[in-house]
Amino acid sequence: MDFGIKGKTALVCGASKGLGRGCAEALAAEGVQVTLVARTADVLENTAEEIRRATGAIVQAVACDITKPEGRAKALAACPQPDILVNNAGGPPPGDFRDWTRDDWIAALDANMLTPIELIKATVDGMIDRRFGRIVNITSGAVKAPIDILGLSNGARSGLTGFVAGLARKTVAHNVTINNLLPGQFDTDRLKKTLGASASASGKTIEQVFEARRQQIPAQRFGNPAEFGAACAFLCSVHAGYMTGQNILLDGGNYPGTF
Ligand code: NAD
Repeated sequence: MDFGIKGKTALVCGASKGLGRGCAEALAAEGVQVTLVARTADVLENTAEEIRRATGAIVQAVACDITKPEGRAKALAACPQPDILVNNAGGPPPGDFRDWTRDDWIAALDANMLTPIELIKATVDGMIDRRFGRIVNITSGAVKAPIDILGLSNGARSGLTGFVAGLARKTVAHNVTINNLLPGQFDTDRLKKTLGASASASGKTIEQVFEARRQQIPAQRFGNPAEFGAACAFLCSVHAGYMTGQNILLDGGNYPGTF
């Protein structure tokens, strides 16, 4: 299937590794010009070069912290009018809500709710004027089924989800869609960190925790960033213009509900 987005431009946040990188690779493979954002310049430049070599796409790398106003300004200066925006940043740390201060909550809200909203605000009107736009927010399966130790994530991402639900119905008349992709358990550095925390809390080895988790997933495996990226690229395609405000779980069947 031709996704119809060759030559479009994309700003992909949190893109040096993991799920963001999976999205950038899949978009570049469709001929999209991608601007990658992450904090660590050398890791990011390596990723950019690997994607250039694999796809032949135009790839630029912007090293900055996307959760800070100056970071967003730098990213938007490099890619001021993207046709596609993939919102992503690191997830908040696990813990017990009794230990979290107001500053911890503000940091989680900044990273996982207010940063995506700021980037949408900066780019959506240009998309509306050009009558094409695709915004994909990487959130979490925790939006549908909360994870107790990830209360900061459950709360901040639900706030973004509520905001998007309203806006996505306003923009779609202009062929600008906004959807959320909800990862279950994907084999990335982030998963290693969260399962590492569960291992130390329970006194088990990380291998034992990984194996127990794997067995609980109906697909009997963790997801990989390439299949996550493929779903993102489809949402960004010309074929997905009638799909907006949706929360799409990619979790190997882990969420047990009918709907
Ligand atoms: P990851 O740690 O493998 O990669 C995160 C990427 O974002 C990296 O490129 C990192 O450099 C970049 N990044 C982090 N903070 C940033 C910042 N402030 N500014 C710019 N770039 C930044 O993580 P991942 O597994 O790909 O997860 C991506 C998102 O999905 C996270 O928010 C995570 O919490 C969420 N998530 C992941 C899973 C999973 O199983 N992997 C499950 C649920 C939710």
